Amino acid sequence: MDSRSVLVIGGAGYIGSHTCKRISQLGGKPVVLDNLSMGHDWAAMYGPLYVGDAGDSAYVKQILDEHDIDSVIHFAACAYVGESMTNPGKYFRNNVTAMQTLLDRCIESGVKNFIFSSSCATYGVPNETPIREDMPQKPINPYGETKLIGEQMLHWYSQCHDFNYVALRYFNACGDDPDGEIGEVHDPETHLIPIVLQAALGKREYIEVFGTDYPTEDGTAVRDYIHVSDLADAHVRALDYLVAGGESTKLNLGTGNGISVQQVVDSARRVTGREIPVKYGPRRAGDPPALYADPSKAKEALGWEAQWTDIDKIIESAWNWEQVRIKRDL
Ligand code: UDP
Repeated sequence: MDSRSVLVIGGAGYIGSHTCKRISQLGGKPVVLDNLSMGHDWAAMYGPLYVGDAGDSAYVKQILDEHDIDSVIHFAACAYVGESMTNPGKYFRNNVTAMQTLLDRCIESGVKNFIFSSSCATYGVPNETPIREDMPQKPINPYGETKLIGEQMLHWYSQCHDFNYVALRYFNACGDDPDGEIGEVHDPETHLIPIVLQAALGKREYIEVFGTDYPTEDGTAVRDYIHVSDLADAHVRALDYLVAGGESTKLNLGTGNGISVQQVVDSARRVTGREIPVKYGPRRAGDPPALYADPSKAKEALGWEAQWTDIDKIIESAWNWEQVRIKRDL
């Protein structure tokens, strides 16, 4: 990473703020554009914050010009699978329409490098695991569909313009900054690990495990939990890769290990030393039984691999953040 300014759209959010921290640790300058619908101004602590929408072309132009920016990382998106099933229009508006306006602006302003938050949700229900990048992408919800359209727009913009991109397909982002400066604050919270920890704190009566009859070892659903600091590191490496002349590409970001919901609960009990009441319930609509990555392509392209491979350590970082949240009343 050199001392360049990077526009980080959605940089006040969960993964965005961790990426800004990594950029600034390595000597770069993160410039954040965030409409604060999901992000928080306290999380944009590593550089200037501009409050506005990714689809506000004039505002984006002003920021790109002011900071002489040719590299953009785009996190800003709606990302709740369940909500996308009840309000698909919101997802197409924010994740597709606004992104297209943003891309047009980037091309007009001479942006050369673009890092995009894609998702394992673009694969739908895979025929086999671990998932490789060349497997079919058949999303089963509007969220995954909008991320796939994002990838397709990038493909064609890069074919037709002097412009390169890396689409990073995240598996289950989790954990928090080990320094406790920033971390995940979502309202409502739908993600497994923070919910389990809220149950440990007594903020929730219990954690409901969605589904016990999956064809997995213990019957609960299996996911690939990738630490947010590892994700942040991958973004900086992806940017360096493009700046060094790397070709546009799409990469899975996961540990390669499948962990069940039951294993997450057991780990949280070990880490917190608390009871954690569990209720076993039916499957959640739209949940595939098992999703975990083959991350070897990211290793080859970026020299990246997950450092946080122990689920207890990941949950420890999230538990630490829960204590910070209580102290800072976040
Ligand atoms: N999950 C659960 N109870 C909860 C929240 C999540 O059993 O209260 C399960 C969910 O069904 C999935 C896994 O935990 O199998 C991870 O869910 P999360 O919402 O964190 O991420 P997703 O995989 O949906 O992106």
